[in-house]
Amino acid sequence: LQAPSPAGLIWQTVRNEQAKSPEARAEILADPGFGNHFTDHMVDVCWSEKGGWHRPRVTPYGPISLDPAAAVLHYAQEVFEGMKAYRHADGSIRTFRPYENAARMQRSARRLALPELPSEIFIESLRKLVEVDAEWVPGAPETSLYLRPFMFAKEAFLGVRPAKKVAYYVIASPAAAYFPGGVAPVNIWLSTQYARAGKGGTGAAKTGGNYASSLLPQAEAHEKGCQQVAFLDDAGNLEELGGMNVVIVKRDGTLVTPESASILEGITRDSILQLAADRGHTVERRALSIDEWRSGVESGDIVGAFACGTAAVVVPIGRLLAEDFEIVHTHSEASDLALSLREELTDIQYGRREDRHGWMLRL
Ligand code: PMP
Repeated sequence: LQAPSPAGLIWQTVRNEQAKSPEARAEILADPGFGNHFTDHMVDVCWSEKGGWHRPRVTPYGPISLDPAAAVLHYAQEVFEGMKAYRHADGSIRTFRPYENAARMQRSARRLALPELPSEIFIESLRKLVEVDAEWVPGAPETSLYLRPFMFAKEAFLGVRPAKKVAYYVIASPAAAYFPGGVAPVNIWLSTQYARAGKGGTGAAKTGGNYASSLLPQAEAHEKGCQQVAFLDDAGNLEELGGMNVVIVKRDGTLVTPESASILEGITRDSILQLAADRGHTVERRALSIDEWRSGVESGDIVGAFACGTAAVVVPIGRLLAEDFEIVHTHSEASDLALSLREELTDIQYGRREDRHGWMLRL
């Protein structure tokens, strides 16, 4: 009999007999790209209204069998997270502020009427997966193992109500350095025809529907020669990008970032702003209108902007293109600040600098 884990669950591990050979794995890790390849195993935990969280397993990575009536396929009752595991020089594998991801997934779940996964099970699920698939955590500079926890309604029932059967999974995908040739500024398309989220909607939750609705405006951004799309709220306040938060840099070193009930609260943004505050920068979290950004750049009061998120960490915004105007940032001090904050954060994540805030958790 196995002893219960710290979260009180008895985990079962089914080893993948068809796991990739060390040679095949090495070939993938040499050039993993992003989101293309998956490790040999996955985590799967069930939830039911009657039984709560149960049957936690590590199983071979592979297709999931779902009833065609599974609620997620019809009503999109699902939430997810995204985070990275980093290999440190001593060989240890660590994640960055995973309790923040656990808490955010609970907030997302609450909004989508899904059960809240206890943080201990969330952390344990990462640990279990990284334990069996440790060899999949790449070691080259700026590479990582991207972890994707997700939860969805699997009950076969076509009525619209919260599902009584839910599945939680974690899959993992090795990720290459995001900017192999050095951090390049991004150009952003300001979508005014489409919104990402509305007042009282699901904007603050990490749920698939928010990303589905960003695809069309994101395609429009590509057509305009931009890599990312920025969204506004009804009042013309800046919200966020399709998959990153935004921070504005003022001439006096003040950093301003949108505060809104309908954006995803990024863990990267929170951390970068903490590091900036530690350096003495004033940080303002408040409504930021696109007009303020525009006129601030014209007057010289705003000298730059950057985007931040787990995947790219921090990236300066070179241009914001809109239907009838354009904002161009050429000020190098603002992008130097963004890059130096990026370096400080990645140094902490990769264990090259003291983790004074206690952000890293060894798996
Ligand atoms: N906003 C959106 C819409 C996102 O998808 C992400 C990426 N998770 C972020 C912001 C940044 O969040 P984080 O820094 O936690 O990755």
